Amino acid sequence: MEELICQGCGAPIQTEDASLPGYIPASALGKSDEVICKRCFRLKHYNEVQDVAVTDDDFFTLISEISNKEGIVIKLVDIFDFNGSFIGSIKRLVGDKPIILVGNKVDLLPKSTNHDRLKQWLRGAAKEYGIKVADVHLISAKRGIGMPELEESIQELRAGKDVYVVGSTNVGKSTFINALIKHSTGINDAITTSYYPGTTLGFIDIPLDERSSLFDTPGIVNRQQIAHYVTDKDLKTITPNKEIKARIYQLNDGQTLFIGGLARIDFEKGTRQPFVCYFSNALDIHRTKLENADALYERQKGELLTPPHNEQLEHFPSFQKTTFKIKEQKTDIVIPGLGWVTLSGEPASVTVHTPEGVPATIRRSLI
Ligand code: GDP
Repeated sequence: MEELICQGCGAPIQTEDASLPGYIPASALGKSDEVICKRCFRLKHYNEVQDVAVTDDDFFTLISEISNKEGIVIKLVDIFDFNGSFIGSIKRLVGDKPIILVGNKVDLLPKSTNHDRLKQWLRGAAKEYGIKVADVHLISAKRGIGMPELEESIQELRAGKDVYVVGSTNVGKSTFINALIKHSTGINDAITTSYYPGTTLGFIDIPLDERSSLFDTPGIVNRQQIAHYVTDKDLKTITPNKEIKARIYQLNDGQTLFIGGLARIDFEKGTRQPFVCYFSNALDIHRTKLENADALYERQKGELLTPPHNEQLEHFPSFQKTTFKIKEQKTDIVIPGLGWVTLSGEPASVTVHTPEGVPATIRRSLI
């Protein structure tokens, strides 16, 4: 069969994976003379941006297109999965352009979160990646929180120049851009895609005025995520969709917490202290004695300890272990894509079990 190419973005047409470029549902193929992928279809008919994942190679080819252009960069991260969604390597690719770091999904954090402190934290974390940011914002693209202030900052910093929006998949980039498009009336019809030879996808060009545009760059897949090992239904359970209620467990050493059946946190040694858990409210947490934890897991995985459920266990990777010695400062133990547990800084030795390929990490506490 001759290879079909999307007439909008140039991506080779495929019918297998909706999250990749060039997707058309098999049922829609051949229905009209116009061969256009779902992403371009939505853009054309609904002025709606949809993110698709590109390969790492394509991502870097595309992002390096930006390096010698003038303009500013909006770097979106998912505040609930900062470590996973921060693309550290874009530094050398975006050049000297001012960067606005935007933490999205702030609606998920407890209301008591100190936003100024969190912004400082974000600035500091970006600096550790060697990235100096011109401004930091906390927003919820979905709920419209913080958007007017951000829009003002963009106008000021861009000073008539172009704006490039970058972010890994699932940070809420499409939601963000669609919210911007809705605000800026009158430009909708002019949205186009640009095709870059040698890659499967281009930027989406949203004119801001006669001379400048906002470009939506394709997302890179955030691989180290538990999300890749659960079903769509379980993904709904583990993905928080409203304010997270911190769950506090006062633990003695020799106790274990199971986060569903997806992770396990062993408090091996240290002083009695609170383990403050930030996970989706729908995800069950079980406390047990460390000495019983192996047996409980064997007996109850897929039953009491879910997700994953019994039928998915066969494809679920085995656990890998990481041990952390925590002392002095308030520290988060992060399970990428799932959430984190905050420890006060009292001495603690903790071993964290996570699916192979999704190692736990620690960081200075976020909130
Ligand atoms: P993209 O892959 O970066 O384009 O991400 P999407 O815009 O498709 O969003 C990914 C997921 O995050 C979707 O389920 C959105 O509903 C959700 N999302 C986006 N923005 C927010 C937000 O501000 N708060 C919350 N809680 N969820 C959001």
